[in-house]
Order: sequence, then C-alpha cells, then structure tokens
Amino acid sequence: MKSVNLINKIRDKVIKCNDITWEQAHKLKEVKEDGLYSLFNAAYTIRKKFRGKKVELCAITNARSGACSENCAFCAQSSWNKTKVKVYPLLEEKEVLKKAAQAQGAGAGYFCIVTSGRRIQDKNDFLRICKTISKIRKKLKLNVDASLGELSFDEAKALKEAGLFRYNHNLETAQSLYPQVCTTHTYADRIKTIENVKKAGLELCCGGIFGMGESWSQRLELAFALKAFSPECIPVNFLNPVPGTRLGSQPPSSPLEFLKITALLRFIFPKQEIKVCGGREANLRSLQPFLFLAGADSIIIGDYLTTKGNPPPADLQMIQDLGLSTN
Ligand code: SF4
Repeated sequence: MKSVNLINKIRDKVIKCNDITWEQAHKLKEVKEDGLYSLFNAAYTIRKKFRGKKVELCAITNARSGACSENCAFCAQSSWNKTKVKVYPLLEEKEVLKKAAQAQGAGAGYFCIVTSGRRIQDKNDFLRICKTISKIRKKLKLNVDASLGELSFDEAKALKEAGLFRYNHNLETAQSLYPQVCTTHTYADRIKTIENVKKAGLELCCGGIFGMGESWSQRLELAFALKAFSPECIPVNFLNPVPGTRLGSQPPSSPLEFLKITALLRFIFPKQEIKVCGGREANLRSLQPFLFLAGADSIIIGDYLTTKGNPPPADLQMIQDLGLSTN
C-alpha cells in the first residue's frame, strides 16, 4: 500500500475509534521522508477534529534550582553533572507570585511550579508551596500545575486541596532505556508517583524526552507506556544537550525527525493535550510553526528551567499568523 493511503486509513480509524494499535503505530514509524508531509497533515486533521484551533500556553518557574541528588543524564540540575546552573533553595512565596503574575501578563493560561530534587523533603517547604498555590488561585486567573518530584498519596491530596490543577511527573524515556538515563531512582518509583497523582484526582501531565539516543521502537514503547496512564497532557521535550551533563555531546536529531515524533504522538493520543516543552527552539529552529501542523496543541512560553526560550510575544505572533488561537 502507498504510504499516503496507509496513513489516511489509520487516520480515519483513529478519528472513528480514538485508538491505534501497536502494529499500526509501528507501520507509521516506517514512513520515510517522502511521506512525512502526508503524516503531518493527517496528524493535523486529528488534532483539528479533537482539539480545535486552540493552543494552550503554559509558563514554568524554577522555584528551587540545582543540587539534586539524582543522576538523570540529561539534567543540568543534577549534582552528578558538572554544569554552571544556578543553585538556590525554595523561592519565597512573593517571588513565585510575582512570576505567576508575569506569566499571566505574557498570555499563559497555566503556570507550573517546578523544583529540583527527588522530592520535597522539608515539611515547611511543602506547606509553603501549598500556600503559594492557594494564593495564586485566589489572586490570578491561572490553572496552577506543579512538578515537585516524588509524591505520596497524602501529599498529592494536599496539593489538590490547595487548588492544584495538574501534576507533572514524566516517565522520561522507554523502560528499556531508563537504566542508561538514571540509576538513582527506578522506573517503578516514577510509576508510584503517577499512580498517587491519579488517585488524588489531579490531572496528570506525563511525557518524556526524545533525542537521548532511543530507537524508534523505544519511542513507541514510551508512548504506549504513557497511554496506560491516560494522562490529560503529554509534555514532549526534545533534548537540548547541556555541556557538562552525561548527554552533553549527544548528536542532535533533525527537525523533521522531531516533527515525526510529534505527529506519531498525535495518532496515539488523539484527544489529549500534546505540549511541546524544552528544546523546541534549539531543535526545530525555523520549523517551529510546523509543530502545530504536525499535531501539537500546546507549548511552554518564556524561559525553561535552565535555558532561554523565545520571547512570549514572538510565540503569540506565530500562533496568530498560523490562524490558531490562544483563547
Ligand atoms: S530531572 Fe529532576 S530528579 Fe533528575 S536530576 Fe534533574 S532535578 Fe534531579
């Protein structure tokens, strides 16, 4: 079967049944360069059907930076990696509130509080984060998300009661590659937190990082593992190698390869928010607008945890120029 016919057949099935089999996803991963635009177009049709024209905008803040005990190979904040990242303890409530107000002013609808480290050990820090979430909810019109590492069920419940909307905890990569990415905590540890988040009734934001040397089969392995948890949002990071990290000299994939990953994820998650996060600017370069034409419907605006992003007005202009909307 010609690749365009195969792509359109699988597209129609996904639109009808909201589902794709492992075999069909594997057939799509075999699409070669001359079929890529057909693949993007089909992913765009699925996105338009289930997500409309809206692009969700999320801003993140690094509320505690560096000095992390864990050895994640991609991360500038791990104390195992020799990077020049800033190190500071948990920010005061008023500083986080200021950053939330700036995020709202820049056009974000979501604001995510992120902290380095395996988990929040200090009870007072945890209570301070809960109080900050409640204040943001009272003063601003933002959905508040958080990414604080491992969570117990009781902590997840407390965050929900404080007004948290969504919690981020990624699987990071395929289980078969995970031991090469991190050995200080396990894949099973990550799943425990994901289960606690779901049990507490929080929305789940769960995805990974692509471009860490994984194969196409491992990309699908990750996607289908994520599918089992039905996350409301799938954050998609493209490795932006930071000098001094274990993956600091990882050769980059091409922009078209990252677009193909995005399109495949749209086939696998027809109804979910697919949020392109770190590494967008460095890896997609001039092809950033194509992300929305290949199935994405959400981005992070502003700076990332340790690297610079586009100025938010430039991203808002890009979305407007594409005929998409942010409200
Ligand atoms: S990804 Fe999180 S847990 Fe891993 S080193 Fe970075 S801050 Fe620590």
